[in-house]
Amino acid sequence: MAAEETKRPEAAGIEHVAAIFGVTGLVGKVLAKELISKSKWKVYGIARNPMIISNQQCSNFHFIQCDLLNPLETQQRLSLLQDVTHVFWVTWASQNQLDSIECCEQNKAMMSNVLNAIVPMAKALKHVSLQTGMKHYVSLQGPFDEAEARYYNENGPRVNAGCNFYYVLEDLLKERLDGKIAWSVHRPGLLIGSSSRTLYNFMGSLCVYGTICKHLNLPFVFGGTKKCWEETCIDGSDARLVAEQHIWAATNDDINVQSTDGQSFNAINGPSFTWKEIWTALAEKFGLEVVPENAFSEDFWYSKAMADKKEVWKEIVVKERLMKTEMEDLANWAFLDVLFRCPFKLLGTRNKVDQLGFTVRYKTLDSILYWIECMRDEKLIP
Ligand code: NAD
Repeated sequence: MAAEETKRPEAAGIEHVAAIFGVTGLVGKVLAKELISKSKWKVYGIARNPMIISNQQCSNFHFIQCDLLNPLETQQRLSLLQDVTHVFWVTWASQNQLDSIECCEQNKAMMSNVLNAIVPMAKALKHVSLQTGMKHYVSLQGPFDEAEARYYNENGPRVNAGCNFYYVLEDLLKERLDGKIAWSVHRPGLLIGSSSRTLYNFMGSLCVYGTICKHLNLPFVFGGTKKCWEETCIDGSDARLVAEQHIWAATNDDINVQSTDGQSFNAINGPSFTWKEIWTALAEKFGLEVVPENAFSEDFWYSKAMADKKEVWKEIVVKERLMKTEMEDLANWAFLDVLFRCPFKLLGTRNKVDQLGFTVRYKTLDSILYWIECMRDEKLIP
């Protein structure tokens, strides 16, 4: 990357310069692909570990390996990025328990390291786009409203119980951008995308489970509560939709005029779904048959059923000539158990983005089927 190009990107026909933090994650990968395809964008992609599928051959993409928890490394590697106009924060530090003080402190430190390196140097910085999630509206500590579904809108109040690192990041942006740089926050539900660098990876878990069922001729079971099986409990958020929404908000002047105080947006697919109504179609995609009366079990726990399947996954990877992954690179059984036994409904409205003219929507079944194909193309699953 030429130093001159970093100082004067417009000389190369570039109008916007993105820095994507978490470029190997679920949304980061899509954001990078989408922005690289637009000639007016130059893209810096930042992550802790190297990319598996590289965009390095694209002249407008620059990958920077950096541990953002390390202040010195972050300062050294990022303070050179003087031409950044748009920051996309699609990362998080997942070492500590959610809702703990330690998790809040670590995520705050990670974002502070980046803001310290970028904000003083990037004089043309226009927008920071933060990704958090629908968990903005609830505390894992309860109390849980088990009655009817509530649909949260962006004005929903913060909850007091527990520590939510999402609030800490919003407050930090507000303080550091100080009414001078616009920012937005996007709150997805269950993210549906492809990555082998994601802790809470629904698609990775589902696909490894389906693949193992097919390989061992096991029944494809929804293990969870009857409520999660039969009722609408969570919104799907296709990684393509979330990435598009980030770009839409970051580059929409009408929104940004009023955004120096931060604009919040739910980032959800739209149409609701139940696991019961889509389970058979999912099974078919993995070449499995579902006997409807055996599809659901309250006694089936993924973390127990899959505990001894690491070697099976290794065999499948070799037999099918897949990208080399360990089972836990893709699957998180404890997460799937919690997801399908979630004691509360976490549903949002998308009235705000709809009214502002954001039109991307997906049916969640279509999202899942699409991303199974992507994971096949990436040779992550057979
Ligand atoms: P992800 O786990 O898919 O990606 C994380 C990215 O951050 C990866 O590229 C990883 O390499 C990078 N990263 C992590 N630690 C790093 C470090 N120290 N230095 C440099 N890079 C580092 O991300 P995600 O699951 O999309 O999470 C992003 C946000 O979205 C979080 O706030 C999360 O709570 C929220 N969210 C996630 C889901 C979900 O289903 N996964 C759902 C709703 C909201």
